[in-house]
Amino acid sequence: MLKLPIYLDNSATTPMDPRVLEQMVPYFHEKFGNAASRSHSFGWVTEEAVDYAREQVAKLINADAKEIIFTSGSTEANNLALKGVFEMYASKGNHIISVTTEHKCILDACKHIEKLGGSYTLLEVDDQGMIDLKELEAAITDKTILISVMYANNEIGVIHPIKEIAAIAKKHNVLFHTDATQAAGKIPIDVQEDGIHLLSMSAHKMYGPKGVGCLYVRRKNPRVKVTAQMDGGGHERGMRSGTLNVPGIVAFGAACEINAKEMYDDAARLSKLRDKLENALLKLEESYVNGKRDSRMPHITNISFKYVEGEGLMMAFNKDIAVSSGSACTSASLEPSYVLKALGLGDDLAHSSIRFSLGRFTTEEEIDFTIKKLTDAVNRMRDISPLWEMFKEGIDISTVEFKPH
Ligand SMILES: *Cc1c(COP(=O)(O)O)cnc(C)c1O
Repeated sequence: MLKLPIYLDNSATTPMDPRVLEQMVPYFHEKFGNAASRSHSFGWVTEEAVDYAREQVAKLINADAKEIIFTSGSTEANNLALKGVFEMYASKGNHIISVTTEHKCILDACKHIEKLGGSYTLLEVDDQGMIDLKELEAAITDKTILISVMYANNEIGVIHPIKEIAAIAKKHNVLFHTDATQAAGKIPIDVQEDGIHLLSMSAHKMYGPKGVGCLYVRRKNPRVKVTAQMDGGGHERGMRSGTLNVPGIVAFGAACEINAKEMYDDAARLSKLRDKLENALLKLEESYVNGKRDSRMPHITNISFKYVEGEGLMMAFNKDIAVSSGSACTSASLEPSYVLKALGLGDDLAHSSIRFSLGRFTTEEEIDFTIKKLTDAVNRMRDISPLWEMFKEGIDISTVEFKPH
């Protein structure tokens, strides 16, 4: 039996895997010790659990356990990476390179660094959402200390050429950080093979709980350090103070271990379902996939439906299907998605875009329902759309001004 509403917003957050929840529960009440309490068994038990989780997390990305700095999630990990490198390597330079389509926390950290006297360059992307590696290399100056490019984009799912970017960073003796929040646990990541120096990930995007994540900080070839952004007890090798979130960390570890085993089957199954959804929706006239289709996460598709008013479209189905939209109505700002605009989409296409992100618990039945519901909704919206009528009559819409509100 199909249960409504259907959740297709796994890029915003995932439900926890019940197997992860089960492992986490004892650490709230039976095994509640402070992992930093060295003088009694309550602390020893949780310290051991944290050590074990650190191994599980490290293994997912082929890192060493000592290289994992637990944080409250990716926002904190990204802030620690950028601001921590900026402070630690101040004698070397003060310039950071990133990309216009990064998550807000990266962009805002760059702005903060500028206020502190640093500078940054944001690379633009092409109409597929990809950066130009020659532009990246040309942006490096003798003041550049860090390149930060996300592994996979959260809105359109495109995967950046991480290995090539790392090679450019290495050639110029610059550190390379990647926000791997959307990729970790979904596709294989190998920090050794890829040449990554710093990497952020978050448990709640990979079937773990909210409020826990980590920053991977390389310890060898080269040895990387970041300046702590909070003062305190000097936990996490002095890079992140604060009593460890033991239940969260145990669950993060468990989620990583399950993902390491199951990501291949998940990806194969979900890419089939994603393609089924995408191909069916592309049968609608004037619908377009946003982002480079052959370099994408297996479970994400972002589609614009031209000549459809985005907010109206959402209202036509969001009682039954949960997705994200590039339209203003889902965000605090009134601007449509800055990521889609960076690809060169006009306001109309950005407003009428929908991100479908599938997950481990998505079923084929749910996808079939979504195809039907969306097809009906788009057709119905167009039936009452004056823009669609004009398009059908061959009027050049680009000469008509679009007013979103
Ligand atoms: C969700 C997300 C973040 C923020 O992660 P939190 O753990 O929720 O703070 C950062 N970057 C990307 C790409 C994300 O998708």
